[in-house]
Amino acid sequence: MYWNKSCECMPREKLQELQLERLKEMVNRIYHDVPFYRNKFQEAGLVPEDVQELSDLQKLPFTTKVDLRDNYPYGLFAVPLEKIVRIHASSGTTGKPTVVGYTRKDITIWAEIMARSLVAAGADSHSVVQNAYGYGLFTGGLGVHYGAEMLGASIIPISGGNTDKQIMIMKDFGTTVLTCTPSYAIYLGDALKKKGIDPESLKLKVGVFGAEPWSDSMRKEIEKKLKIKAHDIYGLSEIMGPSVAIECEAQNGLHIWEDHFIPEIIDPVTLKVLPYGEQGELVITTITKEGIPLLRYQTHDITSINPEPCGCGRTHLRINRLQGRTDDMLIIRGVNVFPTQIESVLLELGEVEPHYQLIVRREGSLDTLEIKVELSEEMFSDKISNLEKLEKRIALRIHSTIGINAKIALVEPGSLPRAEGGKSQRVLDLRKI
Ligand SMILES: [Zn+2]
Repeated sequence: MYWNKSCECMPREKLQELQLERLKEMVNRIYHDVPFYRNKFQEAGLVPEDVQELSDLQKLPFTTKVDLRDNYPYGLFAVPLEKIVRIHASSGTTGKPTVVGYTRKDITIWAEIMARSLVAAGADSHSVVQNAYGYGLFTGGLGVHYGAEMLGASIIPISGGNTDKQIMIMKDFGTTVLTCTPSYAIYLGDALKKKGIDPESLKLKVGVFGAEPWSDSMRKEIEKKLKIKAHDIYGLSEIMGPSVAIECEAQNGLHIWEDHFIPEIIDPVTLKVLPYGEQGELVITTITKEGIPLLRYQTHDITSINPEPCGCGRTHLRINRLQGRTDDMLIIRGVNVFPTQIESVLLELGEVEPHYQLIVRREGSLDTLEIKVELSEEMFSDKISNLEKLEKRIALRIHSTIGINAKIALVEPGSLPRAEGGKSQRVLDLRKI
């Protein structure tokens, strides 16, 4: 099932021709309409005519989140404010938010690729979509909303949180598709269990989860708890919002909609472009966006590109599931550690809940890692000696996976902070404070 077959299954040669034509047009536009980019081009001794091939993209300057902040709020907009019909912003950990603006055409394109993404995940016009992404400045809520409307599905704009109401609506309204963060999906699954509601008794079939990296083991856990097929969706407000890339029925990488975005993978240290298959930082160029077109935007997300043809028939490249973020990446004693690696180990062991917290401390000159892990109700009543053995087993597995000795602390079920709607705080890096 496709939403826009001629675009989604376009032969690669034709797709690349289209990309080049759109890239040239975009570069011209930002050079003339955005002083920030004109300055960057001039500093590098470049003019728009230097782009003749897709590979010429590699010569062009990058854009970073710092550039967006330095030009707060509207400095990178390529059109006057009267052409902007929507403004979103993402909260930064420090200081001012990152602001993005959309023209009417941007909103239509966003809805269209969101409709494509929902269909790729198994939704159709008969679907009842419970949208538990937050509505507001965050792009998740409205992004899914407009796409589901374009698709002709029935959208329930419930937004995040209020779990009792979510469950009541899920039951009474016959929700078939759930959209939210993966950590909230787990939370909802646990809440159903607590209420004694069998997920089989619901009409729920599909979940579309994103806005934070999650592992394949977490997918299994969600699919088991909610009795659904769980699809990963990728996006970021700077580029568009959710729907930049989606997992099709093959659930083996996310198709990135290349008629609107050009992906590259770079080495985050040397900034050199890496070949397909190698892991590095994802960089995206928007080639159709009018409001705030971005050239080679460094996402900080870590993944690789899979150029193999996909069984679903879509020709757009796939990015592999995110490994984490370059700025969430913990460097402990010189080793790169991603929270998703820890999550996989815990879920594979199967004896604990996928609720955990990583605490990094500096003792003297040595960094230490403590992992708090929630016990399941069954394990909690177990003998102390068995729990000590479990701690040792976890520590061993963590050591063989990441090569670091971690202190494991088993904690009571339900005692770690939960994410209701938003992203979970899984890392406490006390070295910075
Ligand atoms: Zn596919």
